[in-house]
Amino acid sequence: MNTSDLWEKVVDNIKSSITPEAYSLWISPLKPLNFENNIFTLEVPNIYFSQWIVNNHQKNIETILSNSHGQPVTLEMKTQQDISSIIKIVGDTPEHIDNNAPIIQKDQINPKYIFSGFIVGASNRFAHGCAEVVAKNPGKQFNPLFMYSGVGLGKTHLLHAIGNYIKQTTPNLKTLYATCEKFVTDYIESIRFDNAASVKRKYRDLDCLLIDDIQFLVGKEASQEEFFHMFNTLSTSKKQIVIVSDRPPKELEGIEERLISRFEWGIIADIQPPDLETRIAILHKKAEEERLYVPDDVILYIATQVKSNIRQLEGSLLKVTAFSLFTGTALTVDSAQRILRDVIKSDGSAHITIENIQKVVADDFNIDMRDMKSKRRTDAIAFPRQIAMYLSRTLTDEFSTNAIGNAFGGRDHSTVMHACNKIKEKMDSDPYFNSKINQIIKKIRSIE
Ligand code: ADP
Ligand code: MG
Repeated sequence: MNTSDLWEKVVDNIKSSITPEAYSLWISPLKPLNFENNIFTLEVPNIYFSQWIVNNHQKNIETILSNSHGQPVTLEMKTQQDISSIIKIVGDTPEHIDNNAPIIQKDQINPKYIFSGFIVGASNRFAHGCAEVVAKNPGKQFNPLFMYSGVGLGKTHLLHAIGNYIKQTTPNLKTLYATCEKFVTDYIESIRFDNAASVKRKYRDLDCLLIDDIQFLVGKEASQEEFFHMFNTLSTSKKQIVIVSDRPPKELEGIEERLISRFEWGIIADIQPPDLETRIAILHKKAEEERLYVPDDVILYIATQVKSNIRQLEGSLLKVTAFSLFTGTALTVDSAQRILRDVIKSDGSAHITIENIQKVVADDFNIDMRDMKSKRRTDAIAFPRQIAMYLSRTLTDEFSTNAIGNAFGGRDHSTVMHACNKIKEKMDSDPYFNSKINQIIKKIRSIE
């Protein structure tokens, strides 16, 4: 098959999986350039396109190419033009930040993620503070530091920031960033090649170990054993360990108790989704870093619509600016609204209100909406009310339990906390109940 036939296969396949808007925005402008030595080269208009492809479709495209060609094919992208000339420059910072700079450091620490690029707000202040303490006094306090949060909220960023800070201030310390997946692969390889010493050397001979996404260790017993011994070696010699996870230690089911208890030895910090102010600050920072001119009302629009994930927040900013750069149209709230339609729908939290949650739950349990706020305490009413409280806390931006209590007929903070704990426990112990709650969540999310 020649270059354009292969590309046609890819296009046919992708077309069916994305919206027509996304297709004309992102796929139509791509040009197949060349196919040689199992490398397929694609010409893209600018770095936003290559970023978008890497983030969303690279694997898929490579699979389609490989299947059509009958051999593994690698995708490479070439940028058509240098857009820096048409990007309006914000401020007069001379150096350009190259987002696509590959990590060449042996320690795998990405120089892009530093403390000064991290916006601090109520949602991440504690984790950020702990990370700074650790970076300034590695191995002295807070060992291990265990940070957790949902996706796209800055864990990996903080982990690299610690590494970069230590490298800069105490370059003689040996620091390593590794995903837990890498650790497991290294361990398995070392067994396969009968070279257990190599993985021991690599991980035990460090002053600071930064481990990302520890949840990958769930269910991998042999790797856990190795991790346990490595952890002990490092911590008895007062070496710093920082661990990042998508959930708190207690919820890492499938990881041995003795490891969990070690994760809890030091300090545990969580990161919550950012509030509006923080989201706005992050967008400003990002626009500045990328040297993009984005009007304030567009920033505000994006910040009010995309709430639960900072990666998506950044992606939305890039998407609207790429569109306006590429089409040469002005960036307005109107155009942002059109371009981000899909993103915003999938963000989920955009239109979830306490009132909608109360309605869906009341409807599901066949009780009167008024009972959500009433003083009645029979189980048949109190239980759905507790579910609605729990969902209000987990699905909306109302993180204050007082605000939630108010929406439920002026109940106090401890009543809401009690309800949340009770429902959470029941969900953990009763799979049937868990799936019922998930169905309710789906219904809530589908409200327009
Ligand atoms: P996680 O590891 O929690 O999934 P990341 O650390 O990969 O999240 O963050 C996702 C993106 O959001 C990254 O580009 C990161 O730089 C950015 N980000 C997250 N939190 C912040 C913050 N507080 N300030 C600035 N950028 C942030
Ligand atoms: Mg991460």
